[in-house]
Amino acid sequence: MISIKSEQELQLMRQAGKAAAAARDAAGKACLPGVTTAEIDQIVRKVLAEYGAKPSFLGYNGFPAAVCVSVNEEVIHGIPGKRRLVEGDIVKIDVGAEIGGYHGDTAATFAVGKVSPDALRLIEVTKQSFYEGIKQARAGQRLSDISHAIGAYAEANGYAVVKDFTGHGVGAKLHEAPSIPNYGPPGRGVRLLPGMTLAIEPMINMGTHQVFILADGWTVITADRSLSAHYEHTVLITSGEPELLTE
Ligand code: MG
Repeated sequence: MISIKSEQELQLMRQAGKAAAAARDAAGKACLPGVTTAEIDQIVRKVLAEYGAKPSFLGYNGFPAAVCVSVNEEVIHGIPGKRRLVEGDIVKIDVGAEIGGYHGDTAATFAVGKVSPDALRLIEVTKQSFYEGIKQARAGQRLSDISHAIGAYAEANGYAVVKDFTGHGVGAKLHEAPSIPNYGPPGRGVRLLPGMTLAIEPMINMGTHQVFILADGWTVITADRSLSAHYEHTVLITSGEPELLTE
């Protein structure tokens, strides 16, 4: 069952989305050589507090931080800690914010100093795959039209789509129905309706699509240690253009 949000609920989601976006961007600016990932967590906590938002991820299934910081071959769910970023790293920042019981969820990939042209291309293609996906995020389209557009674009650019993790509905819960894979044939799944709020989040690898979880129980890395990029917004389906609540 996919929930349709009321205007009141959407007002809260817009506020939560704004907070999450501000924290994401502040974290991205802090992705500099010598900065620890724990320092990035502190920045995210501070910005969310300034917006009157709670970090959605903190304590979620026991996650110990306010932000997921995943470096290079780490795909998602990296735990902030003592690691110091170095020039050439690519860093995935994933932030959830909650205001008044409603969540916004967003992620982006940031370059630390000068990174390789290959890494930059991966970051750009991953971001563009999201924008290809949301061309299909319109009332009347089927859910997998989004999935197909993302996957087809990433694969046409020579990359692999992570299949073990997906996008998701978001709202009163951080993760709601439906699951939104980033691959597969078009024309399947529910028809999109105005008022649906979806966290659409391509996770794209330079090498194999296969991933596994480290012994910390959280960090997902590529099986071949190739670079991975991530890009996510909370998207509202409307009767016209989709609205990005975390822009
Ligand atoms: Mg998400």
